[in-house]
Amino acid sequence: MTTPMMQQYRDAKAQYPGMLVLFRNGDFYELFEDDAEVGARALGITLTKRDKEIPMAGVPHHALDRYLGKLLHAGHRVAICEQMEEAADVKGRPIRREVVRVVTPGTLTEDGLLDPRQSNHLAAIVPAGATTGLAWLELSTGEFQAADLPTARLADELGRLAPSELLCPEELVGAPGKTLADRLRDTYPNLAVTPRPDWTFELPTAKTTLFEHFGIRTFAGLGFDDDQSCLGAAGALMAYVRETLKSNLEHVGRLKHFRQERFLFLDEVTRRSLELTRTLREGAREGSLLEKIDRTVSGTGARMLASWLVAPLCDRAAIEARLDAVAELTTDHAMRQELRDGLAEVYDLQRLTTRVSTGKASPRDLAGIARTLRLLPRIKAKVTARRSTLLNQLERQLELCPDLREMLDAALVETLPLTAREGGMIRPGYDPALDELHAITRDGKQWMANFQAQEIVRTNIPSLKVGYNQVFGYYIEVTHAHAGKVPTDYQRKQTLKNAERYVTAELKAYEEKVLTAEDKIRQREYELFLELRGRVAAQTDRLIQAGEVISTLDVLAALAELAVACNYCRPELCDEPIFEIQDGRHPVLEQTLPPGTFVPNDARMGAEHGTFHLITGPNMSGKSTFIRQVALITLLAQIGSFVPARQARTGIADRIFTRVGASDELGRGQSTFMVEMTEAANILNNATERSLVILDEIGRGTSTYDGVSLAWAITEYLHDRIGCRALFATHYHELAQLTQKLADLRNYNVQVREDQDQVIFLHAIGPGSADKSYGIHVAKLAGVPEEVLSRAREVLADLESHHVTTKDPPDRRKRRPAQPSLFAGSEDPVLQALREFDPDCATPDEALAKLKRWRRELQ
Ligand code: ADP
Ligand code: MG
Repeated sequence: MTTPMMQQYRDAKAQYPGMLVLFRNGDFYELFEDDAEVGARALGITLTKRDKEIPMAGVPHHALDRYLGKLLHAGHRVAICEQMEEAADVKGRPIRREVVRVVTPGTLTEDGLLDPRQSNHLAAIVPAGATTGLAWLELSTGEFQAADLPTARLADELGRLAPSELLCPEELVGAPGKTLADRLRDTYPNLAVTPRPDWTFELPTAKTTLFEHFGIRTFAGLGFDDDQSCLGAAGALMAYVRETLKSNLEHVGRLKHFRQERFLFLDEVTRRSLELTRTLREGAREGSLLEKIDRTVSGTGARMLASWLVAPLCDRAAIEARLDAVAELTTDHAMRQELRDGLAEVYDLQRLTTRVSTGKASPRDLAGIARTLRLLPRIKAKVTARRSTLLNQLERQLELCPDLREMLDAALVETLPLTAREGGMIRPGYDPALDELHAITRDGKQWMANFQAQEIVRTNIPSLKVGYNQVFGYYIEVTHAHAGKVPTDYQRKQTLKNAERYVTAELKAYEEKVLTAEDKIRQREYELFLELRGRVAAQTDRLIQAGEVISTLDVLAALAELAVACNYCRPELCDEPIFEIQDGRHPVLEQTLPPGTFVPNDARMGAEHGTFHLITGPNMSGKSTFIRQVALITLLAQIGSFVPARQARTGIADRIFTRVGASDELGRGQSTFMVEMTEAANILNNATERSLVILDEIGRGTSTYDGVSLAWAITEYLHDRIGCRALFATHYHELAQLTQKLADLRNYNVQVREDQDQVIFLHAIGPGSADKSYGIHVAKLAGVPEEVLSRAREVLADLESHHVTTKDPPDRRKRRPAQPSLFAGSEDPVLQALREFDPDCATPDEALAKLKRWRRELQ
């Protein structure tokens, strides 16, 4: 049987397909049926039954935000269905309920549900064969961008943006088999994939939406061709946000064409393995490069730094501009400190402005804007008359919005209520009509005193009192002793133990006036608030710009702070593919190890020093650390940061690729060797001579011969065909022989001191290749029993005595120069065949034929 309430619930479900409906019922928000099961799992709450059969789960109404946060984080979209009237007001019929709010991960504006340090992107895609149209919006900054990408790059781009919600055409989700949406969900389990009607992505519809919003007639001015599929994505996205937020998004002022070539390209694997914003193992911010370098003092600054880190620049002038500003901020400590003190006090202007422009701002949000505006002159003064072009430009762009500030200061009181309906927001003197209403209620006490005095005289009852209470309103109280003197125009209202309460026509009229005045005050204040909010909304552009300037200043000052605190140097940038670092350090490990224990290392790459460095050395000696350090220094330099080194000269890279060996990245639960080769293929197919390639233990996931052969061939290809800068850390010392063949290849090794039976890792990189693996020493350090260790030494000695040929450079054995064979195991095929040949099983003719063939082959 369906109760009226369940019918209401199902109606709401039907109206908001694909969403969880939180259904208000008294003090709880309930989830029913399938939603109850999903919700109970996501929230860790108990699943119960309603009317013994309907699955149900509920959360207390006051904890809504917390639970909502969890649901969104798990990738759900939620419709909140409220009770629109009090239970006491309805007799016998069900309470009226309505969906008052739709909350989706990508369209959030509430502070309580957003991480202040993290951007929140909403993205949309339109697949179009080999390319995919992608658009994304960061609602809190109004930053709206789009680009057509090769479909193969989509995952990389989504990895960079880390959207919390992705819109895609319905047909994609409904298609049979594993769809793109499924695959994305596999890769990003917390991503909410929201299917939208196909037609909203179609170019004509989407373009109309965008033309309307931006008031334009062609996209040429924005740098798009009119038929790019990313415009379909952008239009669909805009329509979705309007529909969800029921707002016009004034603060989304333009659509930017994202141009990959302006940025250092980092694919998803590289971003992950360099642990830029998250660690590889735990996926936590803690321990990532971002966490270690983040000295920002505001949430907006932290968000901007994170976005710089995953999209470093390629344009030298732009990088130098940032570096100049950072350099200037490193020199003046007092100024930097004062600037940072000011920045630390500002509110999140971008998120506040978004709430204003989407009509969601509360009185306190407006106060936050006012307060931030009051701080701006101080911040601006700190960056006035600076040398660096960027600081000057930021100073000019920092709009103080004095008109807005004055208006807000004049209008709003100091301590504001949570919501705009309560009243108590507007200062006296701001609005004459409001002041008049206040006068009526304020003068109430005086009026009551006068009225009381007048009635005492008239009735001759000295103890007569005029009072007020919530339930009965205004009254005249007369004790029973004087009941006889009560005039006839008094109307009885309430009987107490020893007194009687009355009203008169005059008192009633007064009450009416006061009560309506209070209602009118609330109403008037609300109107004034809306008007104020509207006037702030009209200034969205200036506020967003001010927010952007503040964030940029925060990031620049934070980078300067970092440079000073951690002793970084300004990198010198050039266009040649070189790399010269003196005493470079790993920015994360340096801060993790006890102070003074990190061993700095030099790196020299370029025409003279070779562009391909092969680093050999035992396990745990510091190979991985060293090669990552080179990548991280390059990357930091290209975001415009100082770098952890005594001196650094780096040639701008167009891409950084890293590949971490399978054994170093366990726990991904895939066929690791396949993954490794897929990633190697990606590098070989996409690296250019301007790229920096970091290979860590490639080829380890298969048998030794297989692995070393692949590593060998990959090295040759990168060297001969691509000619990029590359660092390859490997424990295959066999590869060291390649330097004899490859002109730009150099051998380096991590030095080790052997002290009797002890091995000491010096973590210092020196020229030449390592000749031993020290694997057994590492095993010893790890506590492997002595019996196993000594047996391993025997086996090793045995193996080494059989493999002496390994040390011979292959090219010296002249016969087959094109295909050098590397190992005893793949010895000369003629020898091998001879060894396998059994003369007792062959006819004389066969033996003769073989002999002739072998002779021919040897020649
Ligand atoms: P490998 O790749 O050669 O096996 P890693 O680079 O993983 O070695 O380093 C192993 C450990 O050695 C690191 O966790 C760190 O504790 C230490 N280490 C590496 N490089 C340095 C260095 N330059 N200074 C001090 N300690 C280092
Ligand atoms: Mg390693």
